[in-house]
Amino acid sequence: MILILIGPPGAGKGTQAKRLVSELDIPHLSTGDLLRKNIRAKTDLGLKAEPIISAGGLVSDELVMNMVAWRMEEPDCHAGCLLDGFPRTIVQAQSLDEFLETQSRCIDLVIELHVPDEALMDRLLERAKSHPTPRADDTPDTIPKRLKAYHQQTEPILAFYQKRDMLASIDGQGSMDEVFERIMHSVKQAGGGAS
Ligand code: AMP
Repeated sequence: MILILIGPPGAGKGTQAKRLVSELDIPHLSTGDLLRKNIRAKTDLGLKAEPIISAGGLVSDELVMNMVAWRMEEPDCHAGCLLDGFPRTIVQAQSLDEFLETQSRCIDLVIELHVPDEALMDRLLERAKSHPTPRADDTPDTIPKRLKAYHQQTEPILAFYQKRDMLASIDGQGSMDEVFERIMHSVKQAGGGAS
């Protein structure tokens, strides 16, 4: 199964993604994690991405698509994977389609975690205060920028997938278990997970 998890920063994507990949036994492909790994390793990609991420912006579509294609071609992703944090723009969604077409593969389901902005700000500011090793982009300055990037650049891809009847919009508010149950319900409807 190829699943996509989309949601604004602070929607609980990371937590739900971890549970989902463990339940479905598929690799977790988080572009944010891959980029942070590249930054730590000081690769060319990491050096290019670092200032953009710290400023709360989006890394270029081409760099991110190349990184995802490389990762998806690895053997453990052949049976599927969960894409977390990608695609984030219409161009990325289109490039992903083109890439998957060359591999005769397709997306099974796009899951949107929906949380209103007020709740996101609270959650993110809380995370910025309490996280033991705060992420460089979890600051009161960058949080509004990341939310803006989500609304302007990522939200339009929801309609892109909705038109193709691939989108499950999930209410991301409530307990972690409640949200997970809602997600699994949609995944099962799309033909994945244990019956
Ligand atoms: P995340 O961990 O998904 O919140 O990603 C952290 C940061 O990495 C984002 O704020 C972006 O700067 C960058 N990033 C992650 N995924 C992408 C993507 N698909 N396209 C562009 N930038 C990305």
